[in-house]
Amino acid sequence: MPMKTDLQQNYQELQRALSQVGYFRRGTLLKRFMPCGKPGCACQASPPRLHGPYYQWTRKVDGKTVTVRLTLEQAQLLAAWIDNGRQLDRIVAQMERLSLRATDRLLKELPSPTRKASAARAQGKRAPKSQKLPDKL
Ligand SMILES: [Zn+2]
Repeated sequence: MPMKTDLQQNYQELQRALSQVGYFRRGTLLKRFMPCGKPGCACQASPPRLHGPYYQWTRKVDGKTVTVRLTLEQAQLLAAWIDNGRQLDRIVAQMERLSLRATDRLLKELPSPTRKASAARAQGKRAPKSQKLPDKL
């Protein structure tokens, strides 16, 4: 059946793409300009000439926002790692969608539960023996 082959092929492509994802990090990268607070500094003038840019990486740790200051070079690395994290999420989301379709088909190839089996499940009893799924799609 060609549909199955397509699913399997797409899934394998995603697996390959997943294996290509490098290091990743979560969080947000910020580029900020800030005043220093010293009276008479250009950052206090009107219009202000703020200091910076300053690069920051922020993320949530146990519900709290944690901020780390970075150099431009460090920020560039972080940007690439954060991109990798987004790519990873996209690939995994696609794998999940494909997996759902593929496994739905596998489940439907097997006989549906009988009334007796459903009744047993409702009473909290499970059939002791489960059917093995086919190894290949
Ligand atoms: Zn200043």
